[in-house]
Amino acid sequence: MKLTSPSGPARRSAQRSATRALTTEPGFVNPNRQKVIASTGAASTTRNNQAIYHLRCGLCAHEYGCNGLDIKARLCPACQNGAPGEPLREPATMLLFGSEQPSR
Ligand SMILES: [Zn+2]
Repeated sequence: MKLTSPSGPARRSAQRSATRALTTEPGFVNPNRQKVIASTGAASTTRNNQAIYHLRCGLCAHEYGCNGLDIKARLCPACQNGAPGEPLREPATMLLFGSEQPSR
């Protein structure tokens, strides 16, 4: 296991024009009711230079990963015969400190 992102996503106060929905923005819902939950920051396994985004189906609540390019036309792998989702990794926020000290 390798953790290579020491810092979380930078918070920016960028004010985008609210009229343009980016397909990779959290909250975006494509015509197939597939909603973007968040960017996972992981690299896509099917497309170069694409990140995996966490999507949730609005019909069956299935959650899966999808690269940024395919979001706008994504079909749910569970209920719409879409391509299998890309792997979703849990955010690396689990801290297992505490009772790990060697006692003797
Ligand atoms: Zn579904």
